[in-house]
Amino acid sequence: MTISAASVGAGSTPDVEAYLGKTAGQRLQRYLDFLRIPSISGIPEHAPDCRRAAGKLADDLRAAGLEHVEVSETGGHPIVYADWLHAGGAPTVLLYGHYDVQPVDPVDEWEAAPFEPIVRDGRVLARGASDDKSNISIALSAAEALLAARGALPVNLRLVFEGEEESSSVHLEPWLVANAGRLAADVALVADSGFFAGNVPAITVGLRGLTAVEIHVQGPFQDVHSGVFGGAIENPINALAGIIASLKGPDGRIRVPGFYDEVVALSQEERMAMAALPFDEEAMRAELDVPALVGESGWTTLERRGARPTLDVNGIWGGFSGEGTKTIIPGRAGAKITCRLVANQDPARISDLLRAHITEIAPPGVRVEVVAMGGGRPTLTPRDLPATRAFAVALEASFGRPPVFVREGGSIPVAASFEASLKLPVTVMGFMPPNGNFHAPNEWMDLANFETGIRALVAFFDEYAAHPAG
Ligand SMILES: [Zn+2]
Repeated sequence: MTISAASVGAGSTPDVEAYLGKTAGQRLQRYLDFLRIPSISGIPEHAPDCRRAAGKLADDLRAAGLEHVEVSETGGHPIVYADWLHAGGAPTVLLYGHYDVQPVDPVDEWEAAPFEPIVRDGRVLARGASDDKSNISIALSAAEALLAARGALPVNLRLVFEGEEESSSVHLEPWLVANAGRLAADVALVADSGFFAGNVPAITVGLRGLTAVEIHVQGPFQDVHSGVFGGAIENPINALAGIIASLKGPDGRIRVPGFYDEVVALSQEERMAMAALPFDEEAMRAELDVPALVGESGWTTLERRGARPTLDVNGIWGGFSGEGTKTIIPGRAGAKITCRLVANQDPARISDLLRAHITEIAPPGVRVEVVAMGGGRPTLTPRDLPATRAFAVALEASFGRPPVFVREGGSIPVAASFEASLKLPVTVMGFMPPNGNFHAPNEWMDLANFETGIRALVAFFDEYAAHPAG
């Protein structure tokens, strides 16, 4: 199902609607100009473009009537900050987005130049059109419309837009910690998400975390002759394969003791809600071209993908893999393993459990080392969080149907950063179409989502204003 543009206007109020109605052209131009800046954070030659995008964003925020607008240095690409804090007694919303974008390769698969946006059939095609310049532009337009139409926002608002999300946000958490004193809020809206399959309004309530390890298995001091030494020593690759095979049972359960101890159980209500989501398993199987979907027994595919932890080998090496045969016992072997984690698993603890278990089961003829490679925390937002409830009401009023609540299999590490460094509850939201080709050629944004999204955010601010401040 596609939400039609017919619902544009619902959700906001007549004063705001009058302003939005007469400024649609300017608003679109501003968004397209933003898309023309190739702010690819991961490619050093584009550092000046990232700075240019930050500068333009700051100019637009000032012009919209936001205050304390600042391009704040981080040691990397700057963070753009702005606020409006005159809604005495009302709660404070901290809204996060990112102005940087992914690289555009392979560029010859694009229908048009990635940084020369085209508008066609109700869509805008450009790198960043969805991720995440749509959500930033929607937030800017909602605040602008409220300030122009009413001279005030119903809530206090802080905007934090970073430029390194697509290159791992290294400077965000230190910046949040250093600026915690001036970032007080009641909720963090992480505006870097979108709608569910079929363009159904969605609120992301869960994001998985991650822990990564490498296993290094050392056998003889170097590769040795398998005729001379075979049968007398352990083979590191055989040993590694045995270790890996033992980490999961045939039922898909991870056999590392303690692995599941902190996993928050899915409630019956949540399982029913997940089962009701419009999800086509057969389409997913066919798209991936696999003979079957498999995973931990006792759970549906959506549950396994969003609400259950995983353990996967991402790479494996060792020995000889060239043409022909080479009769050796290899000196060493290794593998990279990552686990997707769910609330309330702690990445460091899981990494410790993996190390302890693998060390314990390692066969005696090899030396096994498990190296922690970092990770990120999972998040889970209660659905009855006032901001989440208010956003659900606003989405239904604007888009004409209630949102679905989604547990995403991927990670948005910044969501955990807001929880950990600012102690804020987090609502992950946004208006990107589910099939918008983020990070891929021909990224696009649905203009009906864009326009209705502005109304939804206005409606959210009005709805959330009724909640008492922190
Ligand atoms: Zn993003």
